[in-house]
Amino acid sequence: MSSLPIVRFAPSPNGYLHLGHALSACLNQDFAARRGGRFLLRIEDIDRSRWRPEFDQAIEEDLTWLGLDWERPVRRQSEHYAVYQRALTQLKEAGLIYPCFCTRGQIMRGLGPQALRDPDGAPLYPGLCRDLSADAAWSRAEREPHHVRLNMQAALLRLSQPLMWSEMEEAGNVSMCVAQPEQWGDVVLGRKDIGTSYHMAVVVDDALQGITQVIRGYDLYFATAIHRLLQTLLNLPEPTYHHHRLILDEEGHKLAKRDGAQSLRELRAMGWSAQQVRQALGL
Ligand code: GLU
Repeated sequence: MSSLPIVRFAPSPNGYLHLGHALSACLNQDFAARRGGRFLLRIEDIDRSRWRPEFDQAIEEDLTWLGLDWERPVRRQSEHYAVYQRALTQLKEAGLIYPCFCTRGQIMRGLGPQALRDPDGAPLYPGLCRDLSADAAWSRAEREPHHVRLNMQAALLRLSQPLMWSEMEEAGNVSMCVAQPEQWGDVVLGRKDIGTSYHMAVVVDDALQGITQVIRGYDLYFATAIHRLLQTLLNLPEPTYHHHRLILDEEGHKLAKRDGAQSLRELRAMGWSAQQVRQALGL
């Protein structure tokens, strides 16, 4: 690739940033800085149920304290729902999505005794709404709350070659990974409450912002298969990926905001310096 890299750090304001975020943010900024590339910050704030103003405001403060600098203006996903909706409409016109009216209870009851699970451990959607007549289902969708799901089998039939992605190792070598989106079944691309989803928004934004390398935590490694599939269906460019190691707590679990992982601001209040954070991360 001859053009200069464009990378991004894309946190969701549903908790304070912790060491795992610091690793992601620093790896992105360092990658860009070493190559004369661009480092962007994107606020992934579409999930309004978990959004809090104090978490949102803290993101830029914490990153500034870490010594990072990013381009302005910062893209906020909550300002672009219409853009994500357009991508969904494209998939609808291609006959690749359908509205799903199932409640959680109906889905649980529809699961067979040996329900397959996706890579995150959630049961695969049993397809209850997949075969409703499209016209009737979409007109019902105008009146009733619904999720929008990808028809995975139909989507896979559109592929003309095996789906792969380029994964960059820490040393910089790139290897090809086989993407297996079928592991996720009929994923939700439009949530009932917000009309879009993380998968939809991240793919659209990475393309719109010209992201050349997606550097993010290993927890999103398997989701990359969905992202590559959506890029292919929507005819969007393909970035290279690097899924970095996760920072684990003493019990070996991934740091998670919901478990109260120590935040960067707590470390700062305890007297840590940004340099100490980098050292603790092995940077
Ligand atoms: N917003 C996502 C998160 O905070 C990261 C998305 C990504 O890097 O693709 O987990």
